[in-house]
Amino acid sequence: MDISYIINELGEDREHYFNAIAPPIIQTSNFRVNTVEELKKLAEDEYTGYYYSRGLNPTIDILRKKLAALDGAEDCLVFNSGASAIFASVLANVKSGDHIVSVDKPYTWAQRTFDVILPRFGVTTTYIDGKNIENFERAILPNTTLIYLESPNSWDFQLQDIRAVAEVAKSEGITTIIDNSYCTPLYQRPIEMGIDIAMQTATKYIGGHSDTLGGILTGTKPMIKKIFESEYLNTGTGIQPFNAWMLIRGLRTLPARLDRITQTTAKVLAWLEKHPKVEQIIFPFHKSFPQYELASRQMKGACGLFSFYIKAETKAQIVRFCESMKHIMMAVSWGGHESLILPKCATIEPNSFDPSNEEHRMLRMYIGLEEPDYLIKDLDQAFNLL
Ligand SMILES: *Cc1c(COP(=O)(O)O)cnc(C)c1O
Repeated sequence: MDISYIINELGEDREHYFNAIAPPIIQTSNFRVNTVEELKKLAEDEYTGYYYSRGLNPTIDILRKKLAALDGAEDCLVFNSGASAIFASVLANVKSGDHIVSVDKPYTWAQRTFDVILPRFGVTTTYIDGKNIENFERAILPNTTLIYLESPNSWDFQLQDIRAVAEVAKSEGITTIIDNSYCTPLYQRPIEMGIDIAMQTATKYIGGHSDTLGGILTGTKPMIKKIFESEYLNTGTGIQPFNAWMLIRGLRTLPARLDRITQTTAKVLAWLEKHPKVEQIIFPFHKSFPQYELASRQMKGACGLFSFYIKAETKAQIVRFCESMKHIMMAVSWGGHESLILPKCATIEPNSFDPSNEEHRMLRMYIGLEEPDYLIKDLDQAFNLL
């Protein structure tokens, strides 16, 4: 299906709402039924129609159709945050006594689910270095029911060979989930590579304006229906109609924003890599990246998020560098219109700072929609104060 068709037309039923270009926000909690028979049917299976907005809602359905199609998936659910989408997808696929294999250092709230919540219910997790497929094969136990991936991750961008992991998982009857937030379906389509559930936060690139949270799961109809009937309805963490409408709005410009950010990032990286105070760039599409070959094979693009090691002797120098930015803001998150910087050493005490440890000198940067020269000038004046 054409991406332009998906973004501009699919799921939209304009003749039913006065031919308005933008869809209505159906801000209702419940829906009228006309017959007792209809009431019975909906009470038995909320997935068949509009009944109560903790379940299905027409505005949210427009978004679900578009997101499923972008991923080449049969079906989709949208949650009120990426964290709740992760939680629901994991919970729906484990029971007491099960075992999970997860990549090292997954997104914080995925890791909290594995480390804090699931052990209370007898579910254990083994973390592995996901760069080698043998590590997955070695970590799988007879009670492994789930493999959790994040490729690339959002700090050092380590990848997994998605097709190879999916193949191993399929041969063992294990369900796979991937956090695809870094790429979005525009740059990586995990469902087509054999993954069962593709997750992304919509808070980052899909929303694109740092004003809405959301989380997405796509997969087969039976898998998505299973999650809908238990975790989605039970925890009530589905997205609200207004936020879904904001995400439809974000989707309209997603390809244009990713294009623009890709170009600006290349310009900023070309400047940074020549700077004497920059030791190394960490970016999946940078020639020096250890998994560059795999990245080029399974990703169509890499966009605005990268890290670099800065040359510094003290934490104070890095603090000065970050705090002297005039335009680039210091903040968590990414994927919005605004460029951001985040120092890894924020949580390190000054006397524990070790300049020989490159991780301590790591800065994560996100490139937004500003002019490249505007960003380079800001970086330049901050480097001059280093
Ligand atoms: C932000 C983020 C999430 C969580 O999404 P929220 O919408 O903030 O809950 C998950 N994975 C990655 C890689 C993220 O960057």
